[in-house]
Amino acid sequence: MKELSHFINGQHVKGTSGRFADVYNPALGEVQARVPLASKAEMDAAVAAAAQAQVKWGATNPQRRGRVLMEFVRLLNRDMDKLAEALSREHGKTLPDAKGDVQRGLEVIEFCIGAPHLLKGEFTDSVGPGIDMYSMRQPLGVVAGITPFNFPAMIPLWKMGPALACGNAFILKPSERDPSVPLMLAELLKEAGLPDGVLQVVNGDKEAVDAILDNETIQAIGFVGSTPIAEYIYGRGCSNGKRVQCFGGAKNHMIIMPDADMDQAADALVGAGYGAAGERCMAISVAVPVGDETADRLIEKLVPRIEKLKVGPYTAGADVDYGPLVTAQAKERVLGLIGTGVEQGAELVVDGRDFNLQGYEDGYFIGPSLFDRVTPDMDIYKQEIFGPVLSQVRAKTYEEALGYAMDHEYGNGTAIFTRDGDTARDFAARVNVGMIGINVPIPVPLAYHTFGGWKKSGFGDLNQHGPDSFRFYTRTKTVTSRWPSGMKEGGEFHFKQMD
Ligand code: NAD
Repeated sequence: MKELSHFINGQHVKGTSGRFADVYNPALGEVQARVPLASKAEMDAAVAAAAQAQVKWGATNPQRRGRVLMEFVRLLNRDMDKLAEALSREHGKTLPDAKGDVQRGLEVIEFCIGAPHLLKGEFTDSVGPGIDMYSMRQPLGVVAGITPFNFPAMIPLWKMGPALACGNAFILKPSERDPSVPLMLAELLKEAGLPDGVLQVVNGDKEAVDAILDNETIQAIGFVGSTPIAEYIYGRGCSNGKRVQCFGGAKNHMIIMPDADMDQAADALVGAGYGAAGERCMAISVAVPVGDETADRLIEKLVPRIEKLKVGPYTAGADVDYGPLVTAQAKERVLGLIGTGVEQGAELVVDGRDFNLQGYEDGYFIGPSLFDRVTPDMDIYKQEIFGPVLSQVRAKTYEEALGYAMDHEYGNGTAIFTRDGDTARDFAARVNVGMIGINVPIPVPLAYHTFGGWKKSGFGDLNQHGPDSFRFYTRTKTVTSRWPSGMKEGGEFHFKQMD
């Protein structure tokens, strides 16, 4: 059995806690490796070493730090196929989707190469006689990222890129379900010239996370994962005096107006609902057509498209549309929720529960499912399913449809499909959700904008990547300076009027 490691001080290091988690190949339903789960002592030692390494890295000029990231981008492109294969093997997503996972992370590293510009401070000349004032952005020290299974390349890259570019040392605690790619990223950063100890990958579960939350050296934590864990980490991290940003679960609505191009809307829904087996925080899981006629036309267009979807292992390359769920438990949970939907009265138009793939009977595959006439009181509407299940909720009017997106406790992403500019504009202005698509089903902002949800999908003040990330991973220091030639008045006992 392959035994994975931690990556500490520039080397692979075996776990010493004696605790491990199984890592599966979800297409085969087989354990393919085990990953060590760090103890508090292992985490604390990694953090202490990172604190030492950070001193020199933080004092390295931002352009040189940017050059390490520039080389890192070259290496990520060089190893793209290798990374995608390792990612698909542990996660289950298709190879083209795995490359997208790396690519969307890589783009944030490209953005971070601009660190010298992004870290520029402010300067005011002559705020008083012979007095200048300037602000600078300084690294926080040691910061940590805790990441989910569903984007094992992209989200670690979103976190480590800006943290390192700003001069911090970074502790990554990746998901224990697919830890190989994060370890490969650490190897590549070392090859790119990152000094040892500046990035530590410490694998683990709740014990490692709690060690991060309680470690006094760690100044900031970026988390991505489910909402209950996001709330826990936000609460405990903040009460321990850390800067914390947590991004949680989602239930993304797509409103389809009667004037929308119905073929375009159906294509968009199939990709956004079932891509990556629905294991995306920006997946569309609720379609809200306005008017019964729109709803009926949409179902007519969706069903043949759904029936054509190809579900299979990543080894089939671009010939499959989506792969298995990540674990047997994830599959059981999704099957259970589909059953609950039926019991609570939703109409199961396409049932993916009996899906079977010859040669992959033990894999965690589920066929695509489509529900119609879902209502807000049902569990399949209230909960994030995180599987290949699309629910249709029928609305009579635009206001009713808008209300569904507004009243749901999650607020990550949402979309509207319409030909009417006024409606689209009204929707974007009023809806209380962080990321909005207008005729775009998965509106993931690019690297130079910021990514973040509202309501129970995001906790903390600043978003991920883009300029916000440089604010999150630095603190501002403001200097007021006067040189002796300007000091002529003896002691001063009141605030000076700078007029
Ligand atoms: P998860 O919450 O189970 O795990 C996320 C991380 O938290 C992992 O590193 C895990 O080891 C750790 N963790 C798990 N249980 C813990 C506990 N009890 N105490 C402390 N730490 C714990 O999430 P997941 O299943 O890996 O990922 C899927 C979830 O992530 C979905 O809800 C999805 O919507 C969300 N997600 C959100 C975004 C976003 O940007 N909003 C992006 C991707 C995924």
